[in-house]
Amino acid sequence: MDIEGVGTIVQIQRRRTEREESEDEFSVVDILRLVNSARAKRGTPLTKEQFKAIPETKFNPEGQGPEAKKPECTICMYEFERNQKIKVLNCTHSFHKKCIKPWFANANTCPCCRNIVE
Ligand SMILES: [Zn+2]
Ligand SMILES: [Zn+2]
Repeated sequence: MDIEGVGTIVQIQRRRTEREESEDEFSVVDILRLVNSARAKRGTPLTKEQFKAIPETKFNPEGQGPEAKKPECTICMYEFERNQKIKVLNCTHSFHKKCIKPWFANANTCPCCRNIVE
């Protein structure tokens, strides 16, 4: 049922693990622990209405200057590209709409700062 959200967490962990070159056994245990704690803490999913109510915008890099670093989505770790649909949470963190949607099937908090989305 809720595999999508957990899968996202595992993906993020995997990326980090690859970078750190830590021992495999340890990282697998860590991932399992993380998934379990995510399951245990899994709270209220966001309703469709709540999801719709989150301000949505198309990313527009104009006005940031050519030198400015593009903001990135901390779920998929890719930078926002022009005209991608972005959801901006009330904590001011922003994510691709397609990335944050599965997250909110399992949670009503910001994946970045755990602020509750209202
Ligand atoms: Zn993303
Ligand atoms: Zn946040």
